[in-house]
Amino acid sequence: AHLDRIGAVDGAVHAFLHTNTDEALAAAAAVDTARAAGEDLHALAGVPIAVKDVVVTKGQVTTAGSKILEHWVPPYDATLVERLRAAGMPILGKTNMDEFAMGSSTEHSAYGPTRNPWDLDRIPGGSGGGSAAAVASFEAPLAIGTDTGGSIRQPAAVTGTVGVKPTYGSVSRYGLIALASSLDQAGPCTRTVLDSALLHDVIGGHDPRDSTSLSERAPSYTEAAKAGATGDLTGLKVGVVTELGGEGYQSGVRASFEASLELLTNAGAEIVEVSCPSFTAALAAYYLILPSEASSNLAKFDGMRFGLRVEPTEGPITAERVMAATRGAGFGDEVKRRIILGTYALSAGYYDAYYGSAQKVRTLIQRDFAAAFAQVDVLVSPTAPTTAFKFGDKVDDPMAMYLNDVATIPANLAGVPGLSLPSGLSDDGLPVGFQILAPARADERLYRVGAALE
Ligand code: GLN
Repeated sequence: AHLDRIGAVDGAVHAFLHTNTDEALAAAAAVDTARAAGEDLHALAGVPIAVKDVVVTKGQVTTAGSKILEHWVPPYDATLVERLRAAGMPILGKTNMDEFAMGSSTEHSAYGPTRNPWDLDRIPGGSGGGSAAAVASFEAPLAIGTDTGGSIRQPAAVTGTVGVKPTYGSVSRYGLIALASSLDQAGPCTRTVLDSALLHDVIGGHDPRDSTSLSERAPSYTEAAKAGATGDLTGLKVGVVTELGGEGYQSGVRASFEASLELLTNAGAEIVEVSCPSFTAALAAYYLILPSEASSNLAKFDGMRFGLRVEPTEGPITAERVMAATRGAGFGDEVKRRIILGTYALSAGYYDAYYGSAQKVRTLIQRDFAAAFAQVDVLVSPTAPTTAFKFGDKVDDPMAMYLNDVATIPANLAGVPGLSLPSGLSDDGLPVGFQILAPARADERLYRVGAALE
């Protein structure tokens, strides 16, 4: 049914870069056989899923939205993909994204943008717009995204879906094509909070192949979501972040945020205002740290080892000239912009002024979170300052595009988990996201509070 739905609507939505019909049908048939044989199956066995194209899948083309990996077929599965397969979940295909996960609209995909199912003239968010649009358009019941600065939560907000960035280290990064290794985290894109909890339980947990993977066993997120679904939040303290609201936030976004706060109060929660003063510098710090790490991670795309190789048409064929020709042809403008920014910020003469200062801001943000969570159980804010904008509105203005991430970035800099869920429609008729943030390793709070709001 989902493959049929993809056939019917994906020409317009373009959520998928590749589908894997035969493999998905075979995986589904294997589950049917196992069920008929009376085998003990996982709750999500047979439920199909879409996977963002930055996650490597054995035998299936994986491009990260870039021309430099146009025909690349990975020889192995990411850990999270292994876990999906082990649970019996057929993989429908790979979803569209901004090139190497750099962007907030999918307009930076080398394969053309994904369209927002709510309004095909608008962006579905980014970088994981494909995963969010696939779920919002009922092409897939569940999807996987990655969130380095908001790429799961912001697309969820603008497509009326649920998206979770788990605690850093909660889901293995083995087999993710790295953007910024200290910020990257994979997580669920779904239509309900309970679905996200179920999926997080499948993909989470320790992985010896990821050196930053948390070692302790996580509690059941599914149980937390079920507990929250009773709607009782008596005794819960909720902090509204002063710095993530007000000026710059669309009035319809603010109104829907206020309405969600009222729901929390009705559920028995106590709402207080909490200031996190360093959050105002988060965006600036992120756009130095991310390009710095990205410039290093992307150095491996050199035209020598794998992926695209372009030889210069004139002059000698030297390694350096092949690298330059390959990278010049294979990377898009946004990727080049960030590589240049990152190599500049890391260069000897500027390291302390830029990268060093950004790391200090990161520490201040972590301290703000620690102080806030000493007072409240969860923090809340709108997920994004605006509803889905129109194609072309921000693509030529990188600063305007970056500003869309103000509310999501602090969580990545501190490694804390965040969830975005729909909080109704703005006065423009488009969905608005409500963001919940919890302390590191307390992801279950997101599911409890999120399910209570649903
Ligand atoms: N919009 C952010 C950026 O462009 C999101 C990155 C991400 O989460 N992958 O960097």
